[in-house]
Amino acid sequence: MPRQYELVERVQAYDPAADEALLNRAYVYAMKAHSNQKRASGDPYFSHPLEVASILTDLRLDDATIATALLHDVIEDTDTTRAEIDTLFGPEIGALVEGLTKIKKLDLVTKKAEQAENFRKLLIAISTDIRVLLVKLADRLHNMRTLGHVKPETRKRISEETLEIYAPLASRMGMRAMVEEFQDHAFRWLYPEPYATLNQRLDELRERNRGLVDDIHLALAEKMDEAGIDGEISGREKTPYAIWRKMENRQISLEQLSDIYGFRVKVDTVAECYQALGVVHASWRAVPGRFKDYISTPKQNGYRSIHTTIIGPRHQRVELQIRTQEMHRIAEYGVAAHALYKDAGSSLRSGPSIEKDSGPYGWLRRLVETLLEGHNPEEFLEHTKLELFHDQVFCFTPKGLLIALPQGATPIDFAYAVHTDIGHTAIGAVINGRKLALSTVLRNGDEVQILSSPKQQPSAAWERIAVTGRARAAIRRAVRDALRKQYLELGRRLLSQECQKVGISLDEERLSAALKRLSAKTVEEVFVLVGRGELPIRDAMRAIAPGVEPASAHPSRKPRNRHDHGQGQDGWFNLSRVMGLKFYLPGTQSQPSRNGPSSIPIRGFNKDLPVTFQEGGAVPGDRIVGVLVPQRGIQIFQIHSPLLREHESDNWIDVTWDIDPEHPERFPARIRVSAVNEPGSLAEIAQVIGEKDGNIDNLRMMRRAADFTDMVIEIDVWDLEHLNGIVSALKTKRSVSSVERIFS
Ligand code: MN
Repeated sequence: MPRQYELVERVQAYDPAADEALLNRAYVYAMKAHSNQKRASGDPYFSHPLEVASILTDLRLDDATIATALLHDVIEDTDTTRAEIDTLFGPEIGALVEGLTKIKKLDLVTKKAEQAENFRKLLIAISTDIRVLLVKLADRLHNMRTLGHVKPETRKRISEETLEIYAPLASRMGMRAMVEEFQDHAFRWLYPEPYATLNQRLDELRERNRGLVDDIHLALAEKMDEAGIDGEISGREKTPYAIWRKMENRQISLEQLSDIYGFRVKVDTVAECYQALGVVHASWRAVPGRFKDYISTPKQNGYRSIHTTIIGPRHQRVELQIRTQEMHRIAEYGVAAHALYKDAGSSLRSGPSIEKDSGPYGWLRRLVETLLEGHNPEEFLEHTKLELFHDQVFCFTPKGLLIALPQGATPIDFAYAVHTDIGHTAIGAVINGRKLALSTVLRNGDEVQILSSPKQQPSAAWERIAVTGRARAAIRRAVRDALRKQYLELGRRLLSQECQKVGISLDEERLSAALKRLSAKTVEEVFVLVGRGELPIRDAMRAIAPGVEPASAHPSRKPRNRHDHGQGQDGWFNLSRVMGLKFYLPGTQSQPSRNGPSSIPIRGFNKDLPVTFQEGGAVPGDRIVGVLVPQRGIQIFQIHSPLLREHESDNWIDVTWDIDPEHPERFPARIRVSAVNEPGSLAEIAQVIGEKDGNIDNLRMMRRAADFTDMVIEIDVWDLEHLNGIVSALKTKRSVSSVERIFS
């Protein structure tokens, strides 16, 4: 534990301009504030903030961060207030300490949902000032170092959380040294046995291979010397945690694991990196597939290095990392090494081809954006964990902009990574010059061009083919918004239709007056509730037009039983009159007037209304009935559909076909064909349907008797006339014994 003057000296060593008085004030203040408290270890509590500050001096952070580290627990654990910190240390430090206080509870949480919510808070806090995260990580690191003193359950939970959240966060910030220490502590507490065994084996192995490592070191140094490259070579052993992960993933034993040893070559310039690589590959055989150039394509966290594996001097696999001193500093300290914590955007020193967005800050910014778009924090945490753990693929826009995505990402993810609007309007992708589906999994180095159309709308199915939290949250939101818009429009039409029936207009005045009675905040809310079927139309009407006799209270609205409709033309016609159903028979009658009184025009699979067609379908020309199903919108039934009888006629809605002759659409219908069971009969049926311009969408065959086969065929047709034409043509065929339309 450093003394007061030692801490100040450490800071001054890397920042001569550091505010000595500030550091002294913070030191004394925190020591006094915590004077009565003890750590679980029995140490004075102040030892904790002091160690946290000390960790941050290793990262060479500025005086305000060091002071914040000293003060980071005072608001939470003592009587100190934010105002007091502001007065004594200024608002900058006040804000940092408060940020840390807000996320302090993260340590105390056990429930998944709470953990997720706190993770949101953490991200919002760190998105305003990265120094909050750096102090938080140092805080967690010291807690991990002293975890032996807390209860075993707490130890386990904190270790898990460290592996799941803090190690990946540190990794994304590029802080390798901290990541490895997090993992080592967590590994030790979560899996004590493998931890002990592995460390013991590593000791033995180290002993046994001492000569080998020296040999490789020497051989490398010689070759570099010969080539005149001034490099620094160091041996690098994989951490027990990394080895254990490898063993778990590949299910091999420690004996089989050969690449435990790695070497690092540090040189001065990028050119020397490639020279060194050339020397190494010229001297020893390279293992195929193991070469990675993170210098030309840095990792998302800013990491740059060349990786390769060779068959070394003693026929041993040797992993090599080749990098400049500067790259090494960034690899070890990540964000902290950029020394840009005072001004996040100003000096991100990535390669020239890399956008700022690709660096650690870009990642953080995107994460927070996703977070703000998302609604369910738990879901968000899942996505984020996923993103943190996935390896990445690097893709490029046609203009050469690098887009880093998690492994398994698709053009949908790519599109949303470029811009939310590009995501929303994507209809296809050209990957390396080939037109491919939006669900194609992207590979490293793919050049991706997104094809878009302003008419496109994100579909819920996209969520399944997107893997990034950003894309999924944006899709979910767009789908939700579109659906809400549909329900709103439906509710508006239903109510204005109802108002027309009773001879009043659905105006602003009436609606605002009704809001109170319905205890709704906005007119839109009322429309949405009605559209969703959550607020019955008659209740809404009672509020909108109190005292007005409802128009739809008609006694005989139950559909008759099934046998009626065949013969009883009257029955159904009566019904249609009662219901005010309007049918537009294409090409036969005049189109119903658009502002006709009482029916809702149905235009197939358009996007304005939440409309779905019931089993068996319905085609223009069919008499149709809409049923408002709560949460599902309008379901369209052909009037003869037996399924219609399951719905109370109170929920029926007057609907009418509204076909746009400019853009005709096909609609599905289902027919049952009984055919003679002989060779060629199916071909004949298919041919007839094809010749008549029908689309066979699905076909099921069932053998009824030895010489007859029943087929249920789903065909897409333009309208009823078209369908009838196909049915008649089928009936003329010798192999066909009967054709009928079915609805189930
Ligand atoms: Mn703390």
